[in-house]
Amino acid sequence: MSPSVGAPTPYKAPIGEVLAALEVAGFHNLTTFPRFAHVDLDTVTSLLQEFARLAEGDIASGDRSGDAFGATLDTATGTVQVPEEFKKAYDKYVEGGWGTLSVPEEFGGGGFPAVVSSVLQEFFASANMALSLNPVLTQGSIEALIQWGTSDEQALFLAKLTTGEWSGTMNLTEPQAGSDLGAIRTMATPNADGTWSLSGTKIFITWGEHELAENIVHLVLARTPDAPAGSRGLSVFLVPKYAVNADGSLGERNSLRAQSLEHKLGIHASPTCVMQFDNATGFLVGPLHGGMKVMFTMMNNARLAIGVQGPATAERAYQHAYDYASNREQGNAGNVQPPKSSYIIEHPDVQRMLLLMNTSTIAARMMILTAMVQKDIAHYGASDEERAKAQFMVDLLTPIAKAWSTDRGFETTSLGVQVFGGAGFIEESGIAQRLRDARIAPIYEGTNGIQALDLVFRKIPSAEGSRVRTFLGEIATSLESLHASAILASAAGRVQSALQVLSDTTEWMLNAVKESPKDAQAGATAYLELFGSVLAGWQMLQRASLASASHERAALEAEFFVLEFVLPSAAKASAITAGVARLGALAR
Ligand SMILES: Cc1cc2nc3c(=O)[nH]c(=O)nc-3n(C[C@H](O)[C@H](O)[C@H](O)COP(=O)(O)OP(=O)(O)OC[C@H]3O[C@@H](n4cnc5c(N)ncnc54)[C@H](O)[C@@H]3O)c2cc1C
Repeated sequence: MSPSVGAPTPYKAPIGEVLAALEVAGFHNLTTFPRFAHVDLDTVTSLLQEFARLAEGDIASGDRSGDAFGATLDTATGTVQVPEEFKKAYDKYVEGGWGTLSVPEEFGGGGFPAVVSSVLQEFFASANMALSLNPVLTQGSIEALIQWGTSDEQALFLAKLTTGEWSGTMNLTEPQAGSDLGAIRTMATPNADGTWSLSGTKIFITWGEHELAENIVHLVLARTPDAPAGSRGLSVFLVPKYAVNADGSLGERNSLRAQSLEHKLGIHASPTCVMQFDNATGFLVGPLHGGMKVMFTMMNNARLAIGVQGPATAERAYQHAYDYASNREQGNAGNVQPPKSSYIIEHPDVQRMLLLMNTSTIAARMMILTAMVQKDIAHYGASDEERAKAQFMVDLLTPIAKAWSTDRGFETTSLGVQVFGGAGFIEESGIAQRLRDARIAPIYEGTNGIQALDLVFRKIPSAEGSRVRTFLGEIATSLESLHASAILASAAGRVQSALQVLSDTTEWMLNAVKESPKDAQAGATAYLELFGSVLAGWQMLQRASLASASHERAALEAEFFVLEFVLPSAAKASAITAGVARLGALAR
């Protein structure tokens, strides 16, 4: 029998922390754009408060039953069932128009910055990660259709996707094609009427089949006859579950189905489907053989959305662990008279764990929201130069934010289990679900190892490394002004030293990418870790400098973060530059 664990702590959306993170991320820059003339912080705050009520209530209500009962496939009818609470929560999400919030007004949306939707995603994923994946995938389909769809495709599909009346999926993975999509075998053959027939098997397709929405719009990466080998021969096809008539009504069922569902470590109620396409009718999206470009529109969106799951899972675990630590009595921390016991939150080691959890959650959130603000600037900035600079920042920050923050998400949920002690290992406590749910985020949407390779081989070499050098120079200048503040001086000095290590290892990487790629590959993950930690340390300092009310507390949090995250990752500089030789007998 485990110590009394009670019901899991109800989720409370961290609106105050989110507003502080938006300030560090530079949200105020967006409100000056004509495109966002209707957006101000008060309106955004009210929206967040309203969505928080939905997340804390209906969305969170199915979280535990989703974990306990999961999703089931009725093989006779081919339908997938998820817990009842999911349908109610999803309907409210659709009725509230939440999916349309950041869709451009010309496509019927609310025209809010994408960063605002990113905050909603965090609340959604904290409250119920399995259900939150459904709109995440839909959002990727919307972006792909806005950028690449024909006007007919946009007219027929976009409106219902934005509301969520129809949902979207991303069908990339096949048994032999995971990280290497060039190995895809699903075939699309042309029909006389301009449509395509798709046949093949896709695996691990999130929300590939379900009854929450009236139709499911699958975006499928496939090969066409006589296409070049590898990823250059791939194209994207829109393959709806039900045909859509010219007037928008639903027609016949397409020849595709969920063949089975995976049994997973976490996110039990997110149906992960093996999808079978048997001459299913599809429509080409974007250029023939331009599939990777189209998919990257979806994937870059999804990578940041998955990055959001880092702070989302971490926040939920932190709230639960903090509550438990405030109520569980054990030992004497010197603040009570025996035989009374202290609450475990009085023990410095428990305080250390809680602060690790809280600071990494805060830092991961700021990193994601910064990338999202840059994404909005890249779309709507005033000049070509401003947009190009912001686009580089999005490109650079996407792999860092995805990998760094989802690694923190998993570590934080693991610390949450540790705070609970033995009770944490018992399912009844509910904290184990956080750990299990968080484990997927470093894997899907390109594993974190693949993100590190993307950073090193594609992102930092942009413009011969000049762009990343400029950015590191900007951090250095900003740190100098932070250094001037007495309370932040020592932490700022430490981040400055780590920044120097980052600059040196960046030069080493830029050279290794050209001269000895295997050495660069061997150090890529430690390099990403260093980049993320320096970035986060700098942002923790900015947060402290902006916090007028609780400046001292935020400064201490920044200092703690720098000691725990920035210093250790800078100390691993020699692991970054040791090259493939350090892998010893395994190196080939
Ligand atoms: C729950 C879940 C949901 C998913 N949802 C979707 C979805 O909706 N749509 C979809 O299309 N896919 C989906 N996926 C698939 C997911 O994106 C892949 O599992 C992921 O990209 C990794 O591919 P893989 O599983 O084939 O692993 P592999 O590619 O076999 O990788 C195994 C290991 O080798 C490493 N590795 C592989 N290649 C390299 C390389 N070149 N250099 C260095 N290291 C390398 C990886 O980092 C990893 O550690 C989902 C997967 C899961 C488990």
